[in-house]
Amino acid sequence: MVSFTLNEEQEALRSTVEDFAREVVAPVIGGYYERAEFPYEIVAKMGKLGLFGLPFPEEYGGMGGDYFAFCLALHELARVDSSVAITLEAAVGLGAMPIFRFGSDAQRERWLPELCQGERLAAFGLTEPGGGSDIPGGMRTTAQLDGDEWVVSGSKAFITNSGTAITSVVTALAITERSDDRPQISAIMIPTGTPGFTVAPEYSKVGWCASDTRELSFDSCRVPADHLLGEVGRGYAQFLQTLDEGRVAIAALSAGLAQGCVDECLRYVRERSAFGHELAHYQSIQFKIADMEARAQVARLAWYEAAARLVARQPFKKQAAIAKLVGSNAAMDNARDATQIYGGYGFMNEFPVARFYRDAKVLEIGEGTSEVQRMVIARQLGLDRSA
Ligand SMILES: Cc1cc2nc3c(=O)[nH]c(=O)nc-3n(C[C@H](O)[C@H](O)[C@H](O)COP(=O)(O)OP(=O)(O)OC[C@H]3O[C@@H](n4cnc5c(N)ncnc54)[C@H](O)[C@@H]3O)c2cc1C
Repeated sequence: MVSFTLNEEQEALRSTVEDFAREVVAPVIGGYYERAEFPYEIVAKMGKLGLFGLPFPEEYGGMGGDYFAFCLALHELARVDSSVAITLEAAVGLGAMPIFRFGSDAQRERWLPELCQGERLAAFGLTEPGGGSDIPGGMRTTAQLDGDEWVVSGSKAFITNSGTAITSVVTALAITERSDDRPQISAIMIPTGTPGFTVAPEYSKVGWCASDTRELSFDSCRVPADHLLGEVGRGYAQFLQTLDEGRVAIAALSAGLAQGCVDECLRYVRERSAFGHELAHYQSIQFKIADMEARAQVARLAWYEAAARLVARQPFKKQAAIAKLVGSNAAMDNARDATQIYGGYGFMNEFPVARFYRDAKVLEIGEGTSEVQRMVIARQLGLDRSA
């Protein structure tokens, strides 16, 4: 039997985060969003709740949960707001997880405890101004060993959580050696405040306005040799694994946004009337909401499967790409329909559906565009481009 029912522990976590999102995030997030301000107070409360330590062992200050638990939290947060959800996703999935998976004991002990508490945030720098989908082809950042130091030069674009006042470290992928076919890529940890490491002002974004996204530059930036994460030349493989997992997390976030659209519309169609009836009376509205619920459910089941396989250490690459593809489609479609159901109010930033509309688009872009997900699925089906 395949079970899609959450166990007691998972349901307790889901409902705790649902309550947190409704009681702590919902009342104030609109203001942060409008001001494009990072929500430090909310992040501190998420830290106290243990969300940043969810999938990490207790010895590092984590909650001893797993990746499924982490995705459940993202889903519930995104039903209310995606800026806080992506802040958690990037901090855990992209920032702390590579340190946990690939770091030495010393690196784990140095960085993970404060990351698990949410007192500090880590970021992951892969994308460059010259290209994000085409890695390693688009990479220009280099790191050369000079005595017992790495000298890093180059830049990164669109890096989440890289410029907050509590960011402690950015792991950057860099070319450590060029060979004829494929450059050798390694991951180097660069603490904030390292001379030569500069963080640009926050981008002006369409959505995720209360999250932190920056361009970074490294001008002959020197870090000790032991700031290499994992082995020399393993950066590309590490990045592929990190991204596969990250796609499951973004799929959960997408399904949450899709569900949030349903939540908001169910409320609104009972409050708003037209032509003598509640909007809920009209079948065309009911059908729209039925389609939205169907998309949100399919998106949720898709990430459940991918996350369950990830946790069970079964192959999950194809399921992760499918979950991200259908999840981001569901988020886009539901955000569009929810805005339509709200009419003119749906175009006003004070209503959550307007935020959902603005936040949905990037889900088709970040951590691999929808085109890249299709490439991954096609390759998993044996449709190699050279065939
Ligand atoms: C808000 C935000 C936060 C982000 N956070 C991070 C982060 O924390 N860390 C990080 O490293 N990156 C981050 N990114 C970067 C993100 O992962 C990239 O934007 C994404 O991978 C796409 O890369 P690109 O923007 O360079 O687009 P490009 O790679 O230039 O792609 C442009 C278009 O071409 C398409 N395309 C490319 N190649 C092909 C092909 N072979 N066939 C068909 N179509 C193709 C793409 O699908 C896309 O539609 C973030 C981005 C945003 C917007």
